[in-house]
Amino acid sequence: MFAIQDQVVLTNNYEKVIPKNPIAIDKCRKCGSKGETIQRISNGCAQLVTSEYESRHDAVGKILHQEIMKCTVREREREREY
Ligand SMILES: [Zn+2]
Repeated sequence: MFAIQDQVVLTNNYEKVIPKNPIAIDKCRKCGSKGETIQRISNGCAQLVTSEYESRHDAVGKILHQEIMKCTVREREREREY
């Protein structure tokens, strides 16, 4: 996670820009578009939109729903105590 935040994950863009590898090709390994960066991998790749991003979106939705329901249940339990 920290490597992603610091943008030091070995993407094709990183390989070409940071160590300046002359044979590195800065293309997305999934869709072939120019610029395989962390930003593209995490939310901009056309190939990942229909699979990975949707799964991640749904997983976050489930977590939010569970947390909201926990808060709601706790509030109702506090109201019953009085
Ligand atoms: Zn892509």
